[in-house]
Amino acid sequence: MDKDISYGDDYKYIPATSVNSGAGLEILPNIYCYTIQIVNICFVGNPEAQDFVLVDTGMPKSSDEIIAVAEERFGKGNFPKAIILTHGHFDHVGAVVDLVKHWEVPVYAHRLELPFLTGKKSYPEPDSGVEGGLVAKASAIFPNDPINLGSSILELPADGSIPGMPDWRWIHTPGHSPGHISLYRDEDHFLIAGDAFVTVKQDSLYKVMIQDREVHGPPRYFTTDWEAAKKSVQILKALNPAIAVTGHGEPVHKEEMSAGLEKLVNTFDQTAVPDYGQYVNRKEY
Ligand SMILES: [Zn+2]
Ligand SMILES: [Zn+2]
Repeated sequence: MDKDISYGDDYKYIPATSVNSGAGLEILPNIYCYTIQIVNICFVGNPEAQDFVLVDTGMPKSSDEIIAVAEERFGKGNFPKAIILTHGHFDHVGAVVDLVKHWEVPVYAHRLELPFLTGKKSYPEPDSGVEGGLVAKASAIFPNDPINLGSSILELPADGSIPGMPDWRWIHTPGHSPGHISLYRDEDHFLIAGDAFVTVKQDSLYKVMIQDREVHGPPRYFTTDWEAAKKSVQILKALNPAIAVTGHGEPVHKEEMSAGLEKLVNTFDQTAVPDYGQYVNRKEY
């Protein structure tokens, strides 16, 4: 395994939190979600089977917490088969370098996300001037330099399958980032949406802190292609998910899920796309 792996130059602890920080939720016996400050990670796999995969890796400096949560649920010395990244933003790769060093497991992401995970390309600067609340304003301090996972990062299989998650498939849902993916299990219509849409108004500090639940468009400060983001939400709605775990906010299901997604699709241009911001009306960056 490649030992020369590293976080980005601007890697640092970000002091942001919510009422759900440190809380775990067993949504199903084989899906356990846990909130690191303001972002969710998911352990997929049955504790009895002792076979699991981790989806996303939380905020910077959270590796000790994630390892402790994994050991408590799956037993000490039991490692995930793989880490799957919905995308490479700092709040989803925050612990990944330490976790790879500790567990020595492969990490998978979409091909278009690899430049941001192999030290080649920075994400665009977060748009702290975008229309939105205090989190959007504070986003200037968010890390956007690329991390480098070296040979530990692998491209997701082109056939849509997900290593270590045989009943699942990945769906390309770009817009929030170029190689953003969502994970879907057809059998029970379970969706792990990453930041393709979220269930809290992530731009608002108050709503993030209290985790006021509402199906919402992707976090604005990092979303660079709003046209693609809209198409991605339409794709996810067409799947007719029964339950969704998103990168930010609490899980939604049943009526709340379908009604929320329907409303988001129908009002996307008004409610999700900001009225102003440097990435509005830009297809590429
Ligand atoms: Zn993101
Ligand atoms: Zn996020």
